[in-house]
Amino acid sequence: MYSVRQILEENWGDYLKKDNPTIHQKREIQKMIDCSKNSCNSRICNSRGKRYADNWSENLKSNPRPTPRKHIVLTVPYLLRPILRNWNNLNTLLRSSKYFFKCFT
Ligand SMILES: [Zn+2]
Repeated sequence: MYSVRQILEENWGDYLKKDNPTIHQKREIQKMIDCSKNSCNSRICNSRGKRYADNWSENLKSNPRPTPRKHIVLTVPYLLRPILRNWNNLNTLLRSSKYFFKCFT
């Protein structure tokens, strides 16, 4: 199975011949291609994100919080989804939902 890094490594040269990414894009992609086990600090590098998620998951397993939990899934009609791409609107929805469930549970 290919990783995103491998796909970029194999195709980045051809891409550069056809397109003209910005200096910032080139720098971030190159950091990701050169990424090894140490963090490359690229904002787009998925290995860093995976390590973070793995560490977070292990930490959560070893330090369970002694509070009861509920898992709630909020669904939003398709037509409202573009509105929720705005962080302020999404934040308002989440805070309102939190308030609702505190009141009615
Ligand atoms: Zn990296």
